Amino acid sequence: MDLSTHQKVIVIGSGPAGDTAALYAARADLQPLVIAGNQPGGQLTITTDVENFPGFPDGIMGPEMMELFRRQAERFGTQFLYKTVTEVDLSQRPFKVMAEDTTFTADALIIATGATAKLLNLKSEAQLMGYGVSACATCDGFFFRDKHVIVIGGGDSAMEEATFLTKYASRVTIVHRRDELRASKIMQQRAMQNEKIDFLWNKTVLEVYGSAEEGVTGVRLQDTVSGEESDFACEGMFLAIGHKPNSELFKGKLEMNDVGYIITKPDSSKTSIPGVFACGDVQDSVYRQAITAAGSGCMAAIDAEHYLADSAFAAQNTPAEETA
Ligand code: NAP
Repeated sequence: MDLSTHQKVIVIGSGPAGDTAALYAARADLQPLVIAGNQPGGQLTITTDVENFPGFPDGIMGPEMMELFRRQAERFGTQFLYKTVTEVDLSQRPFKVMAEDTTFTADALIIATGATAKLLNLKSEAQLMGYGVSACATCDGFFFRDKHVIVIGGGDSAMEEATFLTKYASRVTIVHRRDELRASKIMQQRAMQNEKIDFLWNKTVLEVYGSAEEGVTGVRLQDTVSGEESDFACEGMFLAIGHKPNSELFKGKLEMNDVGYIITKPDSSKTSIPGVFACGDVQDSVYRQAITAAGSGCMAAIDAEHYLADSAFAAQNTPAEETA
């Protein structure tokens, strides 16, 4: 690939936010470079059917949808580089972006590095991801109609996901590692008052049973107080033990909240450094949907386009003695 080391716009990340930012930037003739990262296509590449993205009335598989996103961005001149950004220098202009062995410079930077659902890190959990194991009830709940599912976690997400899942599932069991929930009182009450929800206290999951063909059939549990192990039958497992924004690269360089989400200015994708924009899950702890990520990617490209146009205008109209 013939790649210049200087780019007008570099997009870091290639999920719905990054690819949409690239599509819009490419159509604005900015020839963006997307540095795809260690999970090209982002979180949707580990889900199966996507049925809530408008425009696909029959649903579409997550990996296939991300392939379409990429092709659409490429059609207008986006270049994709399948490397991971290892370091950035935002203290000088153009910005410096190190992607493994290559250092790029960019006039504007769009950060779309996403977030990662925390997992239990079990081998069986990884094998059954998309086949009965999920980290997103909004995405996958529909496939568990009349099934008994478990939700792991004791925070607001677990309560919210469990409550949402009762629309479809016949029974939802919340499995929590302690005997006290972390969730806010109101979310706890809502879950506890729901007659389809019950709780298993002081339990962690050691293994998930099942196969790609038959889905999840149960889990091996361990009591966190007695250490005793037992089997529990269920037909799905949802993880709700938190998300982690992929923002380590920008720590100390951009304003973030206390759990690492990049802060963007209201109604924009602007970060604390002019010329650096953020979109998608790395700056959104609330909605976390492909469609909202894509929307914010569009915002970031438009913001970057305006920023570059304003910078070019300012450079042309600065008297020579001021630039000397
Ligand atoms: P969280 O508050 O960090 O809760 C994570 C839960 O998962 C905790 O109960 C934790 O147990 C458990 N957990 C963590 N690692 C685990 C592991 N390895 N094995 C088993 N259990 C584990 O995360 P969250 O629920 O995603 O919420 C994140 C933030 O978003 C919070 O500020 C929350 O208030 C907010 N939120 C708000 C809403 C809402 O208001 N509608 C909805 C969702 C999220 P311990 O309790 O033992 O640590």
